[in-house]
Amino acid sequence: MAEQTKKNPNDKYWDEELETMPRNKIEENQLKDLKEMIQFAYDNSPYYKRSFDAAGVKPGDLQTLADIQKFPFINKKTQRDTQGVGSFLGELCAVPEEDVVFISTSSGSTGVPTVSPFTKKDFDEFQDTESRWFWQAGMRPKDRYVHALNFSLYVGGPDVIGAQNLGALCIWGGTLPSERLLFVLKQYQPTIIWTSPSYAWQLGEKALKAGIDPKKDLNIKKIIVAGELGGSIAATRKAIEDLWGAEVYDFYGLSDIFGACAAHCEYHDGLHIAENHILVETVDPNTGDILPPGSTGELVFTTLRKHARPLIRFRTGDIGRIDQTPCKCGRTHGRIYIQGRKDDMFIVSAVNVFPSDIEAVVRDIKELTGEYLIRIFNKDFTCKYSVEVEKKAGVTLSDEEVAVLTSNALKGRIGVKPSNVVVHQDGGLNTRSEHKSSRVIDEREQK
Ligand SMILES: [Zn+2]
Repeated sequence: MAEQTKKNPNDKYWDEELETMPRNKIEENQLKDLKEMIQFAYDNSPYYKRSFDAAGVKPGDLQTLADIQKFPFINKKTQRDTQGVGSFLGELCAVPEEDVVFISTSSGSTGVPTVSPFTKKDFDEFQDTESRWFWQAGMRPKDRYVHALNFSLYVGGPDVIGAQNLGALCIWGGTLPSERLLFVLKQYQPTIIWTSPSYAWQLGEKALKAGIDPKKDLNIKKIIVAGELGGSIAATRKAIEDLWGAEVYDFYGLSDIFGACAAHCEYHDGLHIAENHILVETVDPNTGDILPPGSTGELVFTTLRKHARPLIRFRTGDIGRIDQTPCKCGRTHGRIYIQGRKDDMFIVSAVNVFPSDIEAVVRDIKELTGEYLIRIFNKDFTCKYSVEVEKKAGVTLSDEEVAVLTSNALKGRIGVKPSNVVVHQDGGLNTRSEHKSSRVIDEREQK
C-alpha cells in the first residue's frame, strides 16, 4: 500500500527538483522522452505508423525538439475517426486493452465523445501531477477539501485522488444539488472547494439567499475553478473572491490528457504547465504555420509520457500563448495564458473577439450584476454582436445611460462597439444555471 506523504507542510514545492529545474535541463528531459515516445508510437500505434510513413518521416528524424515540426498534426477529428477502428480503443492507442485501467470521455459538446485511456503508470503520473497542482495552490494535509466536480466519465472526477494522496481530508461531493452542497460546506467547514467559476458564483449567491454569508458562516479559504475561462479573467476572479472571502486558483485540463495539465501558482499570472508531460507549440490557427515562442496562436500539445494513447502534435483548438521565463514563485515550467476556444472566436470589423473579452468588460462595470448574454449575427453580410446585461438593483443611472457606458467600455477594451446593448433589471437574464452556462447565441447561418 502506498504510504501517505510525509512531506513537511512548510515545503514550498511538491517536487522541488522537478518544479525548479533549469530550462536547459527541462528541455534535455523533454527531448529524451520525446524520442522514446515517437519511437513507441510508431512501433505500437497503427495510426502513427501509417501517418509518419505517409508524411515520409521516421522516428530517427527527430534529433532536436524543433524536429517535432517534421511530424504531422492530429486533432479531435483524428481521434473520432480512429476510435473503435481495429480494436475497441482504436488505432491511436498503443497498448493492448489489458494494460488499460481507466478511461474518461470528452463531453461530446462538439461531436461524438472521444475516449481517453490510461495505463496504471499513466494514471499514477496523472495523480502525482494533480497533487503537485493542489500543493502549488496551497493545499496541505490539514485541509478539508470538497471535490464538487462531475464523477461520471469526466477526467476531472478522479483528480480528487491527487488531493487524497497529498494527505488532505477529501469529501467526494460530485454534482450534489446546491442545497446539499451548502449543507456540507456549513456542517463540515471545509477549507477548499473545486467547481466551475460560474457555479462558484451561483453557489455564493444561493448561500446568501439562504441566509448563509460565505465570508462569515463558511470556512472556504481557496476556490479552485476550471472548465471555463473565468478563473483567469481578473474581474470575474475578483467578484468570486469578494463574494466568498477566498482566493481563486484557475486550473486548466483536457479530457485527452489530464484533469488538470496546468494551474495557477500564488501569483495568479498565467498557469504553470507540466512541461515534463507536455511539449507545447504555438501555431497559426488557420495555416498551422509555427509561430515564434511567446506569440498568441493555437496551442499544440505533444504528450511525452502517456503510453496508452500518445498524442503527437495534438491541435487543442485553444487559442493562447506560453511564457517560458521564470516565474516569481521560483517555478521554471512555462506559464500558459488561454484566451478562448478557436471555435468561439468571431471577427467583427477585422478584430478577433472572444466571449471572454466581453465577460472581462462586463464584470468590471460596477453598475452591472456581471450576468451577460452575447448574440452574434450577420447584418448586411457583416458579422456583428450585441450584448444583454443586467443593471444592479439600486443603481440610479437610467437604462440608456448604462447601455452607453457598457458600449463605450466594450469599444475601449475590445476595439469594436456592439450593435446594441440591452439592459435588463437585476435577475432579468436567464443565464444562471447549475452547470456550465451558455452565454453566447450564434445566429449566423454559417460560421
Ligand atoms: Zn509561479
